[in-house]
Amino acid sequence: MMHAMTRRQRGAAAIGLACAMAMFAGVPATAHAATAGGSPAGAGDPYFPLAGNQGYDVAHYDLDLDFTPATHVLNGQATISAEAKKDLTRFNLDYSGPAISRITVDGRDATYSQDGQELTVVPAKRLKSGHDFTVKVWYGGVPVTIDDPTLGIYGWIYTDDGAVGLNEPDGARNWYPVNDDIGDKATYTFRITTPNGVNALANGEQQGPPCVNGDRTTVTWNERKPMSSYLSMVAIGKFDVTNGRIGNLANVTAVDPTSDGDGAVLQSTTAEAIAWEQQKFGRYPFDSAGGIVDKSGVEYALETQGRPVYDGMPDTDTIVHENAHQWFGDAVTPKTWRDIWLNEGFATYVEWMWDEEHGGPTAQSVFDKYYAKPAGDKFWKLKTGDPGRDEIFSGSAVYYRGAMTLHQLRTTMGDRDFFTLLRTWTEKYRYRNVETKDLLDLAQSISHKNLKPLFDAWLYTEGKPAIP
Ligand SMILES: [Zn+2]
Repeated sequence: MMHAMTRRQRGAAAIGLACAMAMFAGVPATAHAATAGGSPAGAGDPYFPLAGNQGYDVAHYDLDLDFTPATHVLNGQATISAEAKKDLTRFNLDYSGPAISRITVDGRDATYSQDGQELTVVPAKRLKSGHDFTVKVWYGGVPVTIDDPTLGIYGWIYTDDGAVGLNEPDGARNWYPVNDDIGDKATYTFRITTPNGVNALANGEQQGPPCVNGDRTTVTWNERKPMSSYLSMVAIGKFDVTNGRIGNLANVTAVDPTSDGDGAVLQSTTAEAIAWEQQKFGRYPFDSAGGIVDKSGVEYALETQGRPVYDGMPDTDTIVHENAHQWFGDAVTPKTWRDIWLNEGFATYVEWMWDEEHGGPTAQSVFDKYYAKPAGDKFWKLKTGDPGRDEIFSGSAVYYRGAMTLHQLRTTMGDRDFFTLLRTWTEKYRYRNVETKDLLDLAQSISHKNLKPLFDAWLYTEGKPAIP
């Protein structure tokens, strides 16, 4: 265990330095194979067919966001650096945020139209395959939070003193134009302007001190590691921020002072969880860690990259779970939403592993408790490996049976091979996108066992699997 050294700050550090607006040069994201041909709307996700787009690959998002909590007005300027994967006379972005006033492509005004979440952009000049291009979108107004009948509240969410952007699964379009393809990872810069005294946090690392200009403050955050859009996040409001460390890793935690959050406990438990997870799964995949407690009212915690967001003070298992996602989900990300169990099954199983090693029940006893449910119980309904669009957050099918699948894999492979699998999986596929077959192939190559029957029974068959 490691104990973090902490230094507390309160409120936005109003340091009257000149506004240094040095731009972060985006690092090209992991190559993403764009699908050739077909409609440019939608990247082909089986559950979210309109999400993402074809024909280009985003490398970097530079988001200038100006938000006023009292009026809810969000003014944005998004600069998207991308590479054309085929010749494009037009292309699509996903967007359902406030009104757009202007779009340019490579500095020239472009025409555009909107139909639902599809924003179609027609550049003045055809984009050539293999060439980089830059899209700038200016927009402003009051975003309307997404409230989905089955997936709940997400996107741009208002709080008492600010707002928070929480996107899983397809909410990024609610506050910036995006290629909302889970497979198109990119780096990000967030330049967030608010009234003085209001903090703004995001993924990645803060670039220099906040910059005060009259009655407004601007703070810049850079996420330098590839990130799926559903993991991007900003949190605006009053926060008590703690800057600690986990070894060499910065640990930035923040707590809404009007919430039930305990900043010291959030900081130390996050450090303890990540130190343990690094022993199990290899080095932490991002350049900084942390966590944010805000009163968003969403009633979930989300594993936003490098810095999960909690709706109220989380318990230890929740901190372990959301930080496990940094390896399982954030660094190694499914290619499509159908494979959501690769996120939630792993993060749930890491909780079982943590409990087993910290005086709690063994993973086997947790497995046994769920396995005791009779075959007719609705717990066994749905396919863990293909639960359906409305059931991607199903506790029984995706979280518990996902974790049970991993426990069966552990029992079959043996502890040594199973823990080798976890480390190899996170190292081999770091910053990439995966499908279940990649896990099966890796598990089989490590164990020299035929594991296909196990995967078929636990992931692709409804009903209670038999244990051989
Ligand atoms: Zn989770």
